[in-house]
Amino acid sequence: MSEIIKTEAIVLSKINFSDTSKIATLFTKNYGKMNVIVKGGRQKNSGVGIIIDPINVVNLVVYQKNSRDIQILSSADLVHSFPKLKENFESLKYCIAIIELVNYFIHENETNERLFNGIKKIFLLMNDNSERSDIIFLRFFFFFLKEIGYDIRLDLCTLCEAKIEIREEQFINFSLGLICFDCSENQIISRTIPKELFDSMKCLKNRGSLNNFSLKQSSELIGILENFLKFHSEDFKGINSLKL
Ligand SMILES: [Zn+2]
Repeated sequence: MSEIIKTEAIVLSKINFSDTSKIATLFTKNYGKMNVIVKGGRQKNSGVGIIIDPINVVNLVVYQKNSRDIQILSSADLVHSFPKLKENFESLKYCIAIIELVNYFIHENETNERLFNGIKKIFLLMNDNSERSDIIFLRFFFFFLKEIGYDIRLDLCTLCEAKIEIREEQFINFSLGLICFDCSENQIISRTIPKELFDSMKCLKNRGSLNNFSLKQSSELIGILENFLKFHSEDFKGINSLKL
């Protein structure tokens, strides 16, 4: 059975296909991740070929057939192209990191409207340059972990569920999560987290305002979250765009 569907989508990637077309991977609001063929998308004067570009948010009309792996794009209108974000190397780098995470961890046809709206909002924040792009990215990273089922709890011990007390340092085990001082004695500690960094983690996770959060702390924390993800997904090798 084939039907015509309309949905909003974030363009994740595109590759050339044949002499004239492109295949794009999209994260749609109502149908999850989807591959579409953009017929004529390689031609220079193709409006739709220009609109279907990574990071852009578009409104789509697609001929969908459930038996097909790749759907046929009928038309697309641009909703946002985030021009200021794309001119700023730092913002661009973190937005590509978001795209990598979505491409890797979200499966085909897995709908998540909250995640869709979250990404769109993050791209708008990056475009407005409202906060340092690494900080916006980290706020997203905590939200994303929760959305894909790997939430890191910062208030309770993941093992005994005791309240995490204020201490000079906290303990994290990458496959378990945050563990309290008592439990830490019998567990492998992947990392100790100094108090300052831990306080920043709480602000980032709970959308609080940050004070004196250095770039060094930021890259340290991104590393911790990446390692946490690697322990939960064996094939995940880290975020390529952040290795640049
Ligand atoms: Zn405990």
